[in-house]
Amino acid sequence: MVGEMRSAAAKGVACIVDAGHPDMGRSFQFLKQLSLKSGMPIVAGAGYYAQPFYPPEIALWDEEKITHELIAQTKAEAIGALGEIGTWDTMTHDERKVFRAVGKAHLATNLPIFTHTNMGKGALAQLDVLESVGVKPERVAIGHLGGLTDSTAAVQKAICKRGAFVGFDRQGGPGDSDQVPAVLALLEDGYADKLLFSSDFSFASDLARRTDASHRGAMIPFNCR
Ligand SMILES: [Zn+2]
Repeated sequence: MVGEMRSAAAKGVACIVDAGHPDMGRSFQFLKQLSLKSGMPIVAGAGYYAQPFYPPEIALWDEEKITHELIAQTKAEAIGALGEIGTWDTMTHDERKVFRAVGKAHLATNLPIFTHTNMGKGALAQLDVLESVGVKPERVAIGHLGGLTDSTAAVQKAICKRGAFVGFDRQGGPGDSDQVPAVLALLEDGYADKLLFSSDFSFASDLARRTDASHRGAMIPFNCR
């Protein structure tokens, strides 16, 4: 992975935001060693991912307890963001509870928030819940909105208009060209500064040593985490 970081740096990547946290099996110490050995700055996230990944305690804890635990996560390690915080399909009762707690943890820590949606599903509802506890949209990025390929970009525009950021964050696969009309529609409406592009790198099949060698020229599967 140190080699991968050096390869990414050589191609112009100056910093990586890691979207993992403990319920996905993320090791903070691993990230720290990786950053120190490669020289690549890495921003570590914190939080709880989405319903299928929650630890069993989430169902038992109330909003205040989850808020307390989130703040403790951000103090235990050098955390730079609350994310990715997800809804797996339609927002569940527990996911709503976690989103409200994340909003409250944000108010206590001022760490920015970035989210996971199922290809854009429920994007506005996520922003609604965060705003309902007092989060300013300017501190939020709603993720995976490249999954909404409506050429008028109606949902993405609504999010930009409210002040939040829009993630076109699974770039580098065969789905890229389908997203171009929505991106152009957003640029035409003056929202360039609200668009965030990234790779959502998460699979071993995407490693540079795979794509540069044995998989040279092969189509890289679109990430569907
Ligand atoms: Zn995601």
